[in-house]
Amino acid sequence: MKIRLHDLNFVPLISEEEVRRRISELGNELFVRLGDKNPLFIVVLNGAFMFAADLVRAYNAPCEMAFVRLSSYSGTTSSGTVTTSAGLNTDIAGRHIVIVEDIVDTGRTLHVFLDTLAGCQPASVTLTAFLRKPEAQIFPIQVDLTGFDIENKFVVGYGLDYDQLGRNLPGVWVLESQSE
Ligand code: 5GP
Repeated sequence: MKIRLHDLNFVPLISEEEVRRRISELGNELFVRLGDKNPLFIVVLNGAFMFAADLVRAYNAPCEMAFVRLSSYSGTTSSGTVTTSAGLNTDIAGRHIVIVEDIVDTGRTLHVFLDTLAGCQPASVTLTAFLRKPEAQIFPIQVDLTGFDIENKFVVGYGLDYDQLGRNLPGVWVLESQSE
């Protein structure tokens, strides 16, 4: 079954059922790592909102949540990359942090933020990404927990959008290739 968003067609990649099963595993894995440590989940908006909502419900122990918005763009500093964050008002020194990201593509968005966080002396940082495109990663960041590794193709659904559409799809859909 295809769906059309704006001018593009998408086909199913990961079903709602597969997503549900995997998130439950990730919740258990995080519980094993951080069970009684009251971790702070830092959710990267907008794309990770749905992943985060399911992940914290799969995490069976007390935890806290905070939300940040990151944007990266090129050309305004000598490094060529600027990342801004807004909304992180919680003191994270000594805290166990779980970063919740929708998808790690090149790694550009997260690598500056991870450096900034490291400077705030958290007790630990666990980077959790719903999706990862291993072929696309350029910046050296370590993703500790991944929902699914996928090919280097554009996807929507489960929080991820194409020009604001597609976020409400319960599974993941991939851009139809020209041959289909
Ligand atoms: P990176 O900085 O790792 O290259 O890209 C990460 C951000 O780019 C993600 O948080 C997401 O917002 C966006 N992104 C990367 N790949 C995709 C994709 O396949 N689909 C959608 N909808 N967004 C993507």
